[in-house]
Amino acid sequence: MDIYEFSRRFYESIKTEKAVIGKSLFGRDVYAIKLGAGSPVGIVQYTMHGREYITAKLAAAHYRRGGVVGSVWLLPLVNPDGALMSELGISSVPQAKRTELIALNGGEDFSLWKANGRGVDLNVNFPARWGTGAKNTRRAGAENYIGARPLSEPETIALAAFTEKIRPQYTVSYHTKGEEIYWYFYQNAAQRERDRVLGEVLARSTGYPLAYAGNSAGGYKDWCISRFSIPSFTVEVGADRYAHPLGEGALQDIITKNENSLADLSRAYGNMV
Ligand SMILES: [Zn+2]
Repeated sequence: MDIYEFSRRFYESIKTEKAVIGKSLFGRDVYAIKLGAGSPVGIVQYTMHGREYITAKLAAAHYRRGGVVGSVWLLPLVNPDGALMSELGISSVPQAKRTELIALNGGEDFSLWKANGRGVDLNVNFPARWGTGAKNTRRAGAENYIGARPLSEPETIALAAFTEKIRPQYTVSYHTKGEEIYWYFYQNAAQRERDRVLGEVLARSTGYPLAYAGNSAGGYKDWCISRFSIPSFTVEVGADRYAHPLGEGALQDIITKNENSLADLSRAYGNMV
């Protein structure tokens, strides 16, 4: 079963509140599943980068684990096209786009592909100091291309619109790999202290240290911090010893270290306000 089918079945199995928040470039659904009820409300998104599709299975583990204070919206597969390109290769791409994408990728091995179906890296496509990141490129490809303008892609448009609608109190983005937690994006002093304290809750829960991503910009976390002044975290799951794309062999380790993280973060946030 491929990761899109896994996510579709996960979505179909949910009898409580859920939504399709948009479509990918190639027309696949982007799913959101609500866990818990009431306040605080978090948005937790997974698999914005294609090759990091193992995190969709962490989303399912978080749902099974439950235990959040208030509620969280889980978005298991924000970039379904990129995930399937990494998992299945060019056969997952519509026929008319294959030649172009093989050229952008520089070959037929898409296993390390991070971008969406247009070669835009979704996690540098948000309007938060867009285009100023150290690794940003202005050429479509497997990673780091910022897009023609902020929110140029259907997947980032869908995620931004959903976030504007829900107005979460916090967000978490799960990526691979490296076992560290990013939390900073030019917050003022009071917010910086609040976010560092909550980041330390995540650090204790996962065993991952807090880290500083110098000169990065345009990410979902960055946008949430600058647009809403809320705490937003990027958690890089999976030890560096695993190779991209992380597979089933890394899953149990990832779940063990991360399964309590949303319960712990939501409880800490609830106690803080
Ligand atoms: Zn990533």
